[in-house]
Amino acid sequence: MLVYRVPGSLDNEELTAALWDAGAGGLEERQGFLRAYFDGRVPLDDVPGLAGGEWVDEPDRDWQADWKLGLKPVQAGRVTVVPSWLVQDVPQGQLTLIIEPGMAFGTGHHATTRMAIEALSVLELRGERVLDVGTGSGVLAMAASLLGAESALGVDIDPLTIPVAFENAELNGFTRGEDGLTGPQGGQLDFREGTLDGEAFEDEDRYGVLVANLYAELHDLLAGDYREALVPGGPLVLTGILESKLPLVRDALDREGFTDVVERLDGEWALVTARN
Ligand code: SAM
Repeated sequence: MLVYRVPGSLDNEELTAALWDAGAGGLEERQGFLRAYFDGRVPLDDVPGLAGGEWVDEPDRDWQADWKLGLKPVQAGRVTVVPSWLVQDVPQGQLTLIIEPGMAFGTGHHATTRMAIEALSVLELRGERVLDVGTGSGVLAMAASLLGAESALGVDIDPLTIPVAFENAELNGFTRGEDGLTGPQGGQLDFREGTLDGEAFEDEDRYGVLVANLYAELHDLLAGDYREALVPGGPLVLTGILESKLPLVRDALDREGFTDVVERLDGEWALVTARN
């Protein structure tokens, strides 16, 4: 791997433009140096700003291995989310939820996923039917099931997420039977393509708990459907909300008559819980 290493930062537009113009295949900033990756040496000594640099021939890096090393278990309430190769790092007493980082959102590393699992962890889910709107990797529906829900259904508008969610369920020891998947705690789990106002919900009983990691504008649009899908008094857990968009969600919940609205922040992200 051939690198041209020159003092500077990615903020220096003149420098970065000169490196791209010279044919760099990638740029990186490390400890006060800009590192530009090249396929072969090119004359750079005459280029303004680049003269102080040096060529370094570095051993090839295994990016996949580096990336894997960077992943850590995520502890969220009573659940720890891990990729399969870190299962042994789950602290004793925590429920293990394996998610292979892949095509669908929801590895636990995002603040919104973490906050949603924390919110589910403090609810009494035993005997409850849980609906997870925007299931992605299936992480929240599976967390609900591990936390004791009688059944959990994850729906997503993106058809690509559904097979990924089923694969993740198998990884977590959910077994397939005639009535869908059965979890290690005995609860039922299913994933379907769809959304709240879709056919997936015709003739369904109401749900005891509804969790949705979407975004503020969509929560505003769906708030009336949340109300209809939930049993009276049922807890609603909403996230994917930027702090700046909280008023939109607050107003929507108020408009639909939700009560006990509580907000929580993690960095720029918010989670809102309420009761139907
Ligand atoms: N539930 C996972 C988590 O908490 O990490 C994934 C959340 S991800 C931020 C949002 C997911 O919602 C995506 O998989 C997206 O395809 C899905 N989505 C977006 N709009 C939707 C809608 N109207 N109905 C259902 N799912 C939707």
